[in-house]
Amino acid sequence: MTTDARALEAAQLHAEELRTTIRYHDYRYHVLAQPEIGDSEYDRLYRELVDLEEQHPELVTPDSPTQRVGGQAVEGFATIQHREPMLSLGNVFNGEELRAWHARVCRLVERDAFAMVCEPKIDGLAMSLVYRAGRFATGATRGDGTRGEDITANLRTIRALPLVAGRGEDRSPEAFEVRGEVYMPRPEFERLNAERAAAGEQLYMNPRNTAAGSVRQLDPAITASRRLALFAYQLGWVEGRAPVDSQWGALEWLRALGFPTSPHARRLQTVEEVEAFCAEWAERRDSLEYDIDGVVVKVDEFALQRQLGIVGREPRWATAFKFPAEQAVTRLRGIDVSVGRTGVLTPFAVLEPVFVGGATVSLATLHNEEQIRLKDIRAGDDVIVQRAGDVIPQVVGPVLSRREGRDLEAFEMPSACPVCHTPVQRDPSEARTYCPNRDCPVQLARQLEHFASRGAMDIEGLGEQLSFRLVDLGFVRTLSDLYALPDRREELLQLEGIGAKTLDALFARIEASKRQPLHRLLIGLSIRHVGGETARALALYFGSMDALRAAPLEEIMGVEGIGPIVAQSVHDSLHDERTAALVDRLRAAGVRQDEDISARGGPLEGVQIVVTGALTQWSRNEIEELIKRLGGKVGSSVTKNTAYLVAGEGGGSKRTKAEQLGTPILDEDGLLEVLRDRGWTPD
Ligand SMILES: [Zn+2]
Repeated sequence: MTTDARALEAAQLHAEELRTTIRYHDYRYHVLAQPEIGDSEYDRLYRELVDLEEQHPELVTPDSPTQRVGGQAVEGFATIQHREPMLSLGNVFNGEELRAWHARVCRLVERDAFAMVCEPKIDGLAMSLVYRAGRFATGATRGDGTRGEDITANLRTIRALPLVAGRGEDRSPEAFEVRGEVYMPRPEFERLNAERAAAGEQLYMNPRNTAAGSVRQLDPAITASRRLALFAYQLGWVEGRAPVDSQWGALEWLRALGFPTSPHARRLQTVEEVEAFCAEWAERRDSLEYDIDGVVVKVDEFALQRQLGIVGREPRWATAFKFPAEQAVTRLRGIDVSVGRTGVLTPFAVLEPVFVGGATVSLATLHNEEQIRLKDIRAGDDVIVQRAGDVIPQVVGPVLSRREGRDLEAFEMPSACPVCHTPVQRDPSEARTYCPNRDCPVQLARQLEHFASRGAMDIEGLGEQLSFRLVDLGFVRTLSDLYALPDRREELLQLEGIGAKTLDALFARIEASKRQPLHRLLIGLSIRHVGGETARALALYFGSMDALRAAPLEEIMGVEGIGPIVAQSVHDSLHDERTAALVDRLRAAGVRQDEDISARGGPLEGVQIVVTGALTQWSRNEIEELIKRLGGKVGSSVTKNTAYLVAGEGGGSKRTKAEQLGTPILDEDGLLEVLRDRGWTPD
């Protein structure tokens, strides 16, 4: 056999393999509505087959997936023959291919320029909606492009779909077809999955698959419960006089008839503008509440569209600019567990490195133990990995068909901490597993890293690596040891990779961190539920660590923006012996423990005021700012610590409470009077 013949035979085998794989996924997707792989992975397989057949045209068979669009009608729904086929769009993947498409159209229509209508391409399901005498008559899925399924009853349940187009005015044609995309908004998808998680059911993979499953329910009541949404994007066939002669005109006409259309559609004149539009949406895609996978570009004028016509199953007058793939399939080598600074064990995925979303990914989040169980992800599986923008890469789910014949074990949380080997505990209220050992070195190292982080004490140069080293080598056994490091300069200089210059710079920043205000210290202490906002609110209210430590629980709860769970956590933590001792040692080391409150000694110093109801002279923000500026504190509810309730119009329950406690109630003039009595005059 010649080399050429061998190469051809190899290509033939590979083409057959691709066809079998694509047919399988077509079946899962179109017939069962249970796809196993993401669209971008499917697109990649499909494109590989197209490329192979282009290189070896003699290998193309009539039954190749490239020669027809996959899918058969499923029992249970009647079949609807589309009067005009529902075409699919050709793709372009970058600016160069987009400009080539534009140049080709220019050549074909013998023009230098033409208007184009662009809109984000929703990752949903294309639908054919037929209206007769102004009323929604039938709706069908795309199916194989020629015949789809009659899902009229299900589509009727979508609230965005008008059952009557316009107000039945005579300007609407006898009958017409609207093409639209049905999709599931992301918040709805999250709501459904939260429900399923609570019921212990397997989670849905993504909004698109869930929408597909939802419109093909045999019981319309189930579809209705899913709250699907719709965008109309095109006018199909028209019986009688056509109302418009362009795509842009069609969108306006549809909008006027009450159809939802994309608010982001634009009519653009040059290919440069279109390219910029595509780049903008590639950047902003996460800002929408639905998934988009590209931008659809259409020639605006219908006359030009007719002139351009269709090749194969793709119109020449439109194209889809596809965004870079954000999903890929790779092998899950194993599931490891990390320990956080509060001791919580978090599983994560160790992957065969894979290029996705513009970067090589070898680690990905699995969220938590429950997600692994609900998605049935096992070490050794081929998994779908997703990486979008700056979001941490995540494992979407396993490709179950590739598990066949292999015996993979279900994941189990380790029974002991992977670092200190203390038996783990479970917190059933939060479904979390944690290491209860408060001397667990990994927790301390993580706490040290957090203490030094930019949002906390801001000690540049003390990152993850150095934190772990200092803990491992015994230089830090508790956070306050950090401030004793300068005394151990000679010992530290013995360590590999630490020069005198670096070390002295680090010492200078450790020294400088002693002057950080109280709220930074509170952030740095790794108290559960205390983030930046909470820490600032507490620091501003109490002014000093001593005042905060002395405060009873109910006073902490009374601080604006502090809920009962957070208050309890702060209170417990500061009354815990170890934390109290740590705070004392930090103070002894010279770490500042108060906050700058400019109005120290102001007329309202130490006075807690609660504001309620609608005011006339000030906005709520203005009066709260004024109280704080004068040294006062703004409380969220009336307690015995409240000095005054400032009440505007309304404000029922706080007023009642103040009356019960005998707290003085002031109107705005009353407040001004109190302020004047305390020696303050408005400017
Ligand atoms: Zn541990």
